Amino acid sequence: MNSAPAATRARTFAVVIRVRDVVDLALDCFFPRACVGCGRIGSYMCSCCEADLPFLVGPLCPRCGQPQISGILCASCAVHPGSIEAIRSVFRFEGTARRAVHELKYHNLRAIAPTLASYIATCMTEAGMTADVMVPVPLHPSHERLRGYNQAAILAREVGKLHNMRVLPRSLRRAGTSTSQVRTKNVEERRRNVRGAFRWADSPLLGSTVMLIDDVCTTGATLDACASAIREAGATRVVALTVAREV
Ligand SMILES: [Zn+2]
Ligand SMILES: [Zn+2]
Repeated sequence: MNSAPAATRARTFAVVIRVRDVVDLALDCFFPRACVGCGRIGSYMCSCCEADLPFLVGPLCPRCGQPQISGILCASCAVHPGSIEAIRSVFRFEGTARRAVHELKYHNLRAIAPTLASYIATCMTEAGMTADVMVPVPLHPSHERLRGYNQAAILAREVGKLHNMRVLPRSLRRAGTSTSQVRTKNVEERRRNVRGAFRWADSPLLGSTVMLIDDVCTTGATLDACASAIREAGATRVVALTVAREV
């Protein structure tokens, strides 16, 4: 009885797929994909640049994820235990990794998000990190209005798909009082700047583990302030993954 509508749906789906292929082909003709690292035409990251990506390798501080020869808690984490259990990043924030993040963030190259997300997803597996839900670090509302999107939310959505995890893109909000982190590099200044800068605007997270997702981790102060708001909402554990890390 239902075979006719099912066949119609299948045909419609096939047509949508073909239209998408044609649109992709047309876009590739008029706006050819260029490697973010070297500009070579063909893909957003050519095989040479991909082979040369600056992976962040251990030993790392088990909490903040900074390279640490001893592999034990670094001096900063020993003094400031913070709200976050572990931060891990795929790359050092340099070279092609830096350019890829820059293109995603400032030049509207949202098409590179699945590539970066696949690296985050692999890092998550390799680090043995798990969580009940994924939450992107929110942008300042004024920045998101200007940019039209939150790059962390796009990354979280893609990682969520790969790991089949629930993503809550709007549950963590900026309280709207902090100044831009770009202007302050000193860790103490950044901690002061983001203290109380986030609030949880969704149902309580009682007993859950939350994974924060962001593009870049500079000092970890922003992630820690996010974790603090999430812990106040009832989460037991908060971990974080970012594409890159300033080291
Ligand atoms: Zn290249
Ligand atoms: Zn540390």
